[in-house]
Amino acid sequence: MNSTVIDRADVADPASHGATEPGVAAFLRSSDRPMLVDGKWVEASSGAAFAVGNPTNETILAHVAQADAQDVAAAVAAARRAADDGRWSGLHPAQRSLILNRVADLLERDSEMLAQLETLNNGMTIHVTRGLVQYAISLFRYYAGWPTKIHGATNPGDPSMLNYTLKEPLGVVGAILPWNGSIGASAMKLAPILATGNCAVVKPAEQAPLTVLRLGELLLEAGLPDGVVNIVTGFGPEAGKALTEHSDVDCIAFTGSTATGKQILAASAGTLKRTILELGGKTPNIIFPDADIDAAVQTALFGFTYMNGQGCALGTRIFVQRDLYEEFSAKLSVAAKAMTVGDPLDESTGLGPLGFRAQYDRVNKYIGIGRDGGATVAHGGDNPDRKGYFVRPTIFTGVTNDMRIAREEIFGPVASLIAFDDEDDAVFQGNDSDYGLAAAVWTNDITRAHRMAGRLKAGTVWVNTMAWLDVSCPFGGYKQSGLGSELGPDSIDQFMQTKAVFVKL
Ligand code: ADP
Repeated sequence: MNSTVIDRADVADPASHGATEPGVAAFLRSSDRPMLVDGKWVEASSGAAFAVGNPTNETILAHVAQADAQDVAAAVAAARRAADDGRWSGLHPAQRSLILNRVADLLERDSEMLAQLETLNNGMTIHVTRGLVQYAISLFRYYAGWPTKIHGATNPGDPSMLNYTLKEPLGVVGAILPWNGSIGASAMKLAPILATGNCAVVKPAEQAPLTVLRLGELLLEAGLPDGVVNIVTGFGPEAGKALTEHSDVDCIAFTGSTATGKQILAASAGTLKRTILELGGKTPNIIFPDADIDAAVQTALFGFTYMNGQGCALGTRIFVQRDLYEEFSAKLSVAAKAMTVGDPLDESTGLGPLGFRAQYDRVNKYIGIGRDGGATVAHGGDNPDRKGYFVRPTIFTGVTNDMRIAREEIFGPVASLIAFDDEDDAVFQGNDSDYGLAAAVWTNDITRAHRMAGRLKAGTVWVNTMAWLDVSCPFGGYKQSGLGSELGPDSIDQFMQTKAVFVKL
């Protein structure tokens, strides 16, 4: 494979990235990673490849094939053939369940390898990536239960007709993935796509495709027929755009930034495909003085540093009732200071590096914007003196909800502490955002908790907890946080067409 981007001499020793699991070195040793089209591992038709890095030490982990529109078309054609000949949708539903359960078994078998590979590629701590692999396993197990339970209904609306509905797969789904938690994001899309009998072309994020490619190997090992899942690695404006615009793709399921989501919606309008968008957030985490303050402090820290601060639903706007503000910010700073920043493969590390150079630059730029905008750095705001894309957990005080750091998604371990006066003010400020993905409330007043849950304009509300998802519970957002929702039965509905049949009696 020709590398068009980085000289081969730059590849670090594939066995020396610090992973203890032998499968990781074995995977990285063959450092040219092809893509999966029609059950075969192929290079890009142009021969191009690009480098995929390790954000902890800025070395290269592998080169992966760089798909262009021609490669995407080949993958879509393979998925189309698989969708049209029914090699997957036509299987007995129990057989589809069995294969999805086998995928879960294989993920379990390789869980530590996958977690370490994910940590190397995206810098998230090994605790986080182990959790993401467990999440992927739960997703395949949960959706493995669905194929045998999906059915239409009969409608006795008109006695002169036998009227019933059929639930049919859409056909070919293009899944465009983010780089923060590739293994979890790919399972979030693929488990329901496959449970509903669809075929897929997956485009992992260019920064973190490695665990998705490994998942491709596991899907084949589990017995998924060739062409049912195809994986094209490449860049958004090239491969992602080609997938979005392709007339043989029936649906696009995307997770990523709101700006890119808007481009995808516009591009998919040309062929009017079903478009499911899981986008950004600016979650308000609202602390009332009657809460368990120590628990609220610890969870607030977790709530903006989980995934190294790179999660769409993280609690980056921390609203604290005015009388509690000083005490809370002092306690949060102490907790942040105790957090270990370092090698994400180290079991004691609490915060790893940001995912890649551009992300690091972006977060540092926002820290500057916060300072220039008049907010005060109560903790962090600087970068540890070491290689890698590290930023210390950063807490801004004196923030008002109209400042840019309170309005725009930063996607790094940066929190804004904002004061509020009373419940109405907390609701008003919490809802005053372009986003509406999630919200959290801390209070021991049960009536206030439920009142707030009703009043907050967010797809998910947490009370006395944060950043909790369940595979069986729908997840989606209001406003510019997305279109449609994922998880639970919602993903089943979104990937199916309901067909009505009328038989004259
Ligand atoms: P970020 O969170 O870094 O802004 P994006 O939201 O831009 O990331 O990217 C998420 C996914 O969308 C990635 O797989 C990326 O390659 C893809 N992507 C980026 N731009 C486009 C585009 N114009 N069309 C389709 N996919 C895109």
